[in-house]
Amino acid sequence: MAAHEPEDHPEWDRSAEWDDIRFMRKRIQTGTMRTVHMPLLPVSMGDTWPIPVTVLHGARPGPTINILGAIHGDELTGPSACTHLLSTRFTEPGAPLDPKRLAGTVRIVPVVNLPGFREKSRYLPDGRDLNRAFPGSPLSNTTRRVAHQLWTNLLEDTDAIIDFHTAAKGRSNMPQLRVDLAHPASYLLAKAFGAEIVLDSKPPSGSLRRIANDEGIPCITFEGGAADTLDNRSVMVAVNGALNALRSLKMVPGRPTRPAFRLLASGSRWLRASEGGLLDVFVREGAVMKEGDVVATIADPAAPGLSVDIVAPEDGLMISIATNPFVTAGMPVGHFLPLAKHVDLVLRHVDEDGSLRLNAAQGDPLWREEQDVEEVTVEHSSSEDAEWVDAIFDLEQEEKDEADGVGRAKREDQAA
Ligand SMILES: [Zn+2]
Repeated sequence: MAAHEPEDHPEWDRSAEWDDIRFMRKRIQTGTMRTVHMPLLPVSMGDTWPIPVTVLHGARPGPTINILGAIHGDELTGPSACTHLLSTRFTEPGAPLDPKRLAGTVRIVPVVNLPGFREKSRYLPDGRDLNRAFPGSPLSNTTRRVAHQLWTNLLEDTDAIIDFHTAAKGRSNMPQLRVDLAHPASYLLAKAFGAEIVLDSKPPSGSLRRIANDEGIPCITFEGGAADTLDNRSVMVAVNGALNALRSLKMVPGRPTRPAFRLLASGSRWLRASEGGLLDVFVREGAVMKEGDVVATIADPAAPGLSVDIVAPEDGLMISIATNPFVTAGMPVGHFLPLAKHVDLVLRHVDEDGSLRLNAAQGDPLWREEQDVEEVTVEHSSSEDAEWVDAIFDLEQEEKDEADGVGRAKREDQAA
């Protein structure tokens, strides 16, 4: 993280002055951790929605990093990963996040949108999406007030942000990062995290990533798993990724683990249902597909004898797959990353089920030098429909159906 090396930040120098800090007026001594409740609404009447923020204040100078879960209240990978990071296994004396061995300050917020989490909802109780409301305003609607409170008290003074998410309801994502690769510090943070799949994505307007990048703060979004469920593999990748980032920033001891390869992808497409009915999915998220492989089949109980196959339009990786079997024409069945000439590289790293093996999902991830990471860039091809080019990683808008890639479906008449 070139921009975050000590030479650019004399205050992180080991010999720099380093003292107790205050967070929400609570004092945190060097080399200790403390959980502070921060109100999402700073009011003296009515609900204040306090959320727990655990601050690990290191014994030595260093940067401040925020690790966040559940900005969308129904996305549980982040809450689980953050809770793991705060377990004694990680924070006890001698463990990776022991505050006495830490340089800098780590703020971990397992559940940012606690009111939504309690209602199993993506949104805040006023029905708005917190991750479209940044930087917020103290005089606007409830969600924008919450965003303003978070931005001014927790986020704007930080040196890096890792934001954990999952797919929206109805889909499941393989572990992946979303990063604006044109933002160099964010790209470095993504490399430090150690993920195989990095999607180059301009952050949506109003998202935390957008405002953070605009303010020069590196910020990456991790995606893994599905809303309302817990996927242990995604949680492990999230935990190991956060530790990797802290190791790379030299905030905690140890060498970061790195993947065997890294795909920097600047294009993807949606495979969509061409007909309505019941969707029977044959592959899991993370499956590597060859052109023509059947992804799913759609049949309608009201039209027995008919079915439609959704097939891979070219060689690629299924980075997200539908989990809701009820589809109407046009609904996304999968989010597909064309691999073009890199399919052979990826095929070297699949397990016996045809799914990608992820370094950080292993119990004991391997470490390797950065120079040994095979990094390739996958550009979108301009073949076929031009429309999906416009849809490149408009990702957080998935559920709004704005991305308009077109899947190719093959019609079969089994009644014949
Ligand atoms: Zn989300």
